[in-house]
Amino acid sequence: MNWDIKVTKSSESRIKKTDFNNLAFGKDFTDHMFIADYYDGKWQDCRIVPFGNIEMHPASFVLHYAQSIFEGLKAELSPNNEILLFRPDRNADRFAKSAERMAMPEVPKDLFLESIQKLIEIDKEWIPKGVENASLYVRPFLFATDPILGVRVGDTYRYMVIVGPAGVYYSEAVKVWIQDKYVRAFPGGTGEAKFAGNYAATLNPVLDAKKKGCAQILWTDGKEHKYFQEIGTMNIFFVIDNVLITPSLEEGTILHGVTRESLMTLAKDFGIKVEERKISVDEFLKAVEEKRLNDMFGAGTAAVVQDIDGFVYEDQSYDLSWMPRKESKMLKKALEDIKEGKAEDKFNWIVKIN
Ligand SMILES: *Cc1c(COP(=O)(O)O)cnc(C)c1O
Repeated sequence: MNWDIKVTKSSESRIKKTDFNNLAFGKDFTDHMFIADYYDGKWQDCRIVPFGNIEMHPASFVLHYAQSIFEGLKAELSPNNEILLFRPDRNADRFAKSAERMAMPEVPKDLFLESIQKLIEIDKEWIPKGVENASLYVRPFLFATDPILGVRVGDTYRYMVIVGPAGVYYSEAVKVWIQDKYVRAFPGGTGEAKFAGNYAATLNPVLDAKKKGCAQILWTDGKEHKYFQEIGTMNIFFVIDNVLITPSLEEGTILHGVTRESLMTLAKDFGIKVEERKISVDEFLKAVEEKRLNDMFGAGTAAVVQDIDGFVYEDQSYDLSWMPRKESKMLKKALEDIKEGKAEDKFNWIVKIN
């Protein structure tokens, strides 16, 4: 532990007011939060304080120009009550990359890991125990605080971590709208950064999706709407002719998901053939028509592995409930068992707290 983190404990816990049997996603937060401020060219005043509102200058840069990035990971309890984090180093690396893209100061890897570990240690009673599909969701974020309206690279930033017990993101299979109108990310844009503005920009299109009976959008490339990108909160996987296929990352339009990477490793370990490549809407539609699509799912920390059971394309609705769905079940179980300490951690993914 290298960082001097000052701790101020809350006088009273809110844990008894939290219904652990009816957890939503991202609505409940623990008793404490972590804050560090960047000024005079360095990270300073690292502290854990009672959870609560923060004060901001009305001209704070983030409020006007969205200079803000975030991460998402989960802490789980093993069967013998050890606290497990899943590949937090990958989140630390991605956070640094997002910061660079947004011209923000990097949060040093050891500060990122230490802030999360220390906060979870203090609020460990909040990690759900024996509640199916529940875990402690960890949300680190970084934003610009300069009280100046000019559009420029600032001098002051705040890094925070908030955590909370969370249930599943979607409680059932979802239908997606294959995009032929809106665009989420372009080559050279911000698609692969976990940048706040990327998500705000998808809200209106998602309202349109809901009108079509779809919970989410499956994004396609911005030039031709021909190749798949991802779902915007999850990466996308297809199984066609028993081959697991996911869009490749080289254009910078797709988030480098930790779940995505881990599922590909697990699939290869199961002997499933894996392809990271461009996949077109045409190739997919043909596989659907010929019933060669074996499985289709989203992958991300919040939703883990999310079944997709239908889609809308060019105003036509397709049902996918006929898919065998073998791979998603297998991969989901294997990943969850490792995350929950129920299976051997053969890829060295787990970091234990204390
Ligand atoms: C966070 C996120 C994902 C999933 O990444 P994980 O590291 O697996 O949680 C996928 N797509 C987008 C746009 C995301 O923000």
